[in-house]
Amino acid sequence: MFSGIAKKIFFILILLSFFTLSAEKKFKVVIDPGHGGTNTGAVSGKVSEKELTLALAAKIRAFFKKHPVPEVDIIFTRTDDSSVSIKERAELIEQQQPDLFISLHFNSQKVIATNRGFEIYYPPDSLSGDSASAALSYDKVNRSFYYGSVFRDLYFKANLHTTWKLPLNMFSQKYNFGLFDDTAVPGLLLEIAYISSPEDRACIENPLFTADVAWYIYDTIVKLSSKTKQLKK
Ligand SMILES: [Zn+2]
Repeated sequence: MFSGIAKKIFFILILLSFFTLSAEKKFKVVIDPGHGGTNTGAVSGKVSEKELTLALAAKIRAFFKKHPVPEVDIIFTRTDDSSVSIKERAELIEQQQPDLFISLHFNSQKVIATNRGFEIYYPPDSLSGDSASAALSYDKVNRSFYYGSVFRDLYFKANLHTTWKLPLNMFSQKYNFGLFDDTAVPGLLLEIAYISSPEDRACIENPLFTADVAWYIYDTIVKLSSKTKQLKK
């Protein structure tokens, strides 16, 4: 039989492990609306990328406010039209150590005006350096690819390809994107649509499109948080 004190200690230990477990279960995501301030990003007519990414992030934030998810911790690199350098964004991400960061961008292509669609980029393989750092990098790439694959699958489940006739492509990053190089945590770059494509522009200029994409990102993060909880068990 437990003595009174032993019972109390046992009870406190149970409580402590409960709080430790619930603290571990939070799925932390940094949302990074691209550009801002003096850095407009791609511009075409009245549309500028920095405003589109901020409007999309604001909508995602509004969904988390309206439908709160206690298991998800969501942080933004900017919530207004301020200039935030890639270095500052990378520092925030490294300091927060999220499960995942998601950079939001809108694409533009002057040379091939027919390019269009929603694109998911994940970090490229890096097998340089010693074996320990190569293993860490490999782990980061694998986790990013896993998150990207869930985003890809749920894009089709959300019927975004049929509702908005917006094709989806997923790539390993092939051009310079500082945040993938300057951070050690899993990350994704979402290029929502091409400002330079007339078909994509018709989507971009419809407020229902922003709401649909924001809901899809919100919903995917929520689903990832429950999947990750299962993985952590
Ligand atoms: Zn951009």
